[in-house]
Amino acid sequence: MKITCLGGVRTVTGSSYLISAGENNVLVDCGMFQGRSETEVLNEEPFQFDPRKLDAVLITHSHIDHIGLLPKLVKEGFRGTIFATEAAAELTGIMLLDSAHIQERDAELETRKKLRKGKKAVSPLYTTEDALKSLGFVRGIPYRQQHNIGKNFSFLFKDAGHILGSAFIEIEVREKGEIKRITFSGDVGRRNTPIIKDPEQGDSSDVLFIESTYGNRLHKNLNETIAEFEDILLRCNQECGNIIIPSFAVGRTQEIIYILSSMWSNDHPLKNMRTFIDSPMAVKATDVFKKHSECFDKEAMDILRNGNSFLNFQGLTLVETPEESMEINKIKSGAIIISASGMCNAGRIRHHLKHNLWNKKCHIIFVGFQAAGTLGRAIVDGAKKVKIMGEDIVVKAKVHTLGGFSAHADRDELYSWLKGFSRLPGKIFIVHGEESLSLEFAAFLKEKSITEVYVPRRLESFEI
Ligand SMILES: [Zn+2]
Ligand SMILES: [Zn+2]
Repeated sequence: MKITCLGGVRTVTGSSYLISAGENNVLVDCGMFQGRSETEVLNEEPFQFDPRKLDAVLITHSHIDHIGLLPKLVKEGFRGTIFATEAAAELTGIMLLDSAHIQERDAELETRKKLRKGKKAVSPLYTTEDALKSLGFVRGIPYRQQHNIGKNFSFLFKDAGHILGSAFIEIEVREKGEIKRITFSGDVGRRNTPIIKDPEQGDSSDVLFIESTYGNRLHKNLNETIAEFEDILLRCNQECGNIIIPSFAVGRTQEIIYILSSMWSNDHPLKNMRTFIDSPMAVKATDVFKKHSECFDKEAMDILRNGNSFLNFQGLTLVETPEESMEINKIKSGAIIISASGMCNAGRIRHHLKHNLWNKKCHIIFVGFQAAGTLGRAIVDGAKKVKIMGEDIVVKAKVHTLGGFSAHADRDELYSWLKGFSRLPGKIFIVHGEESLSLEFAAFLKEKSITEVYVPRRLESFEI
C-alpha cells in the first residue's frame, strides 16, 4: 500500500491523504488550505491524482480544512462515495455551502479589481452549484459501523471528541494476503469538552497519522478557563463597552452558548446581558446540534432529560438577516456579540470588529485557534492597526485570548490518547500542525521512548 501526504503536513490546513492498495484508492479528508496567500494558492493547483479513479473519501469531520475541496473534487470527476458520520454529513452541507458563498464573493471582489486594471475576470474555486452537487455524494453512517470499500479496504469511525460528529478513522487494508491497520486521528478533542463526548480509545494499529496542532503546548483546564471568561465578562461590563467574540460557527459557538447558559442559570449579575449570535451558519449548526444527541455527553443528556431548554437562554438573540445584523452595529455598549468566522478572515465578524476594535472600552475575546496569516492572528499578535474591508482600523479595544477552550488536545492529552491505544502503533506520522510544533511533538515522543516517529512533507509518499 502507498500513502501520499497531499496536505495538512508541516502546516495545519489542507488535510488530505491518499491511500492506494491494489485497485482501490481512498482519500482521507479533502481539506482546503487556509491562511497565508502562498498557502491558499495550493487550492488552485490540480489534484495530484485522478479524482475519477478514487473509490471513496473518508471525512474525519466537517471543518473546512478537512472537507473544503470536496466540491472541487466532484467538479473534477470524482463519482465515488464520501463517507462521514451522520452528524458530520449534515454539518458538511452547512459548511460547504458557506464556503462556496465565500469563494463566489471573493472571486467577485477580485474580478472587480482586475477589470478596473484592464485584466481578466477570475472565476471562483467552486460555486454554490458545485457544492450542492458534491453533497449528493455524501453518505452519513453511524459510529463504529464497519464498511467495505472495494476488495482492499474496510473502515470504521470512532468518536474523536473534537466537534459534533468528529471521528478518527480505523482503516484495514488487505493486500497480497496481508492485513494492515492504519489510523487517522483527524483532529483529537479534549476530555470534558462541553456538550460532546470524550475521545474514544484507539484499537491496535500498525500506522498512525496523528495531529499536532498543539504539539508543544499545554492548555489551561476548562474550569479555570470558564472562570477567566466570567471574570473578563464582569470587567468588560463595568467598562461599558461591547464584548466581541469571534467564534467558529460550528462547535465553539454552541459551546459558548452552553457555557453562558450554565453561568446564567444561577442568579448571575450579568444574567440580563443581551447576547447575539450573529451568524446564519451558527444558527443552522445549532439546529443540527440539537438533533444529534448520539454525540452528547452525560451532562448534556441530563439537561435534555430534565426538559430544560438546550442551547438557549433568556436574552439570547439569534440573528439571521443582514438588516438585523446591521442593527447590532448601532449598539455601543453592554452587548455580547458572537460572530463568525472564528479567525476573522470572512463573515459578519469583520463588521463587528470594524465597529468596535477602535473603541478602548470594548473587549475582543478570542476563544479559538488563529492560523498564521489571518486577521484574527494579527490582532492576537498585537497589531496596532489592521485593514478590514479596505479600511485601516486602529486597535484600541482590549484583546483577550482564552486558549483553554481549544477543541484540540494539547501535548499531554495527545500523548495520553496515544497511550490509550490497545497496542501502540508501530509507526507514527505527525501531521496537522505548524512545522515547528509537529517537530517538537516528534521530539517529545522520542523523549518518551516512542522512536518510530516521522514528520512527513507535502507530496511525500510511503510504502507500507
Ligand atoms: Zn477540526
Ligand atoms: Zn483540522
